[in-house]
Amino acid sequence: MGAAIIDGKAFAARVRARVAEGVAGLAGRGIVPGLAVVLVGEDPASQVYVRSKGRQTVEVGMRSFEHRLPADTGEAALLDLIAQLNADPAVNGILVQLPLPGHLNSDLVINAIDPAKDVDGFHISNVGLLSTGQKAMVPCTPLGCLMMLRDHLGSLSGLEAVVLGRSNIVGKPMVQLLLGDSCTVTVAHSRTRDLPDVCRRADILVAAVGRPQMVPGDWIKPGATVIDVGINRVAHEGGTRLVGDVDFDSAAAVAGAITPVPGGVGPMTIACLLANTLTATCRAHGLPEPEGLTA
Ligand code: NAP
Repeated sequence: MGAAIIDGKAFAARVRARVAEGVAGLAGRGIVPGLAVVLVGEDPASQVYVRSKGRQTVEVGMRSFEHRLPADTGEAALLDLIAQLNADPAVNGILVQLPLPGHLNSDLVINAIDPAKDVDGFHISNVGLLSTGQKAMVPCTPLGCLMMLRDHLGSLSGLEAVVLGRSNIVGKPMVQLLLGDSCTVTVAHSRTRDLPDVCRRADILVAAVGRPQMVPGDWIKPGATVIDVGINRVAHEGGTRLVGDVDFDSAAAVAGAITPVPGGVGPMTIACLLANTLTATCRAHGLPEPEGLTA
């Protein structure tokens, strides 16, 4: 194996420590950032995420507000709750855990959040601000990827970046962030022709497809930096294990650096959620934003 391992767990711990410092700095002004998480239904994976978010929010010194609603909650009741959270000065960040049950319109619900409190960065205003290069709340997973890339590579200017996947949550905002850092960006998806050749152009390859170990080492340019966003549970020795979208062993033999799964992008997502909540709090109070925690 030749590649350097980009340790997302350690990086996320450093981000959380910087957030905790920022939160401590606000305490002197009597400000405590608050993050409200709304969970509708009992999806087991979502429950795990929400618990973890709540714990980490408190650990950095913020207030955590959890709203658990039954799976059959109607749209009007959910919109009512969001209106209350929008109006509550103790709440600086609002996150509605996705996916929502099928009878609820996710776009309508997300776009009801005050964009200044939209710490997931999914509100249409934040999507527009990001794509026009203006100050936005940036989606947490791509923000975490950007932080790791900047930390590892320094300037990204002029590098060839390939983003594999075009979802609204990961692929598209990742494209905007890489463009913002002056990469030459190609976005690939299920209809892309000659995918291996497209990937081989990449100095930076970000894989976000949700297909276990789809990207083998021979799709990777020697020395490239590989960010594996995929989280896929596969059968393993009578149980299961998590793997990424990249075939780690063959990729690590060729790449210059690579994020592992688990322990790469995953831990950065919640760390960036906390960073966004701190940023939203500073903006709400007209204070300078924390350095190095935004795009
Ligand atoms: P998604 O909404 O399902 O999007 C997947 C994208 O991959 C789509 O654009 C799709 O293309 C493309 N794709 C699928 N199969 C492909 C193929 N065979 N060749 C080329 N492109 C293909 O997924 P997502 O929400 O972006 O998530 C992607 C992965 O990241 C998942 O494993 C998810 O669990 C993981 N994830 C991790 C985190 C984290 O915290 N680390 C956060 C979010 C997501 P089309 O558009 O053409 O269908």
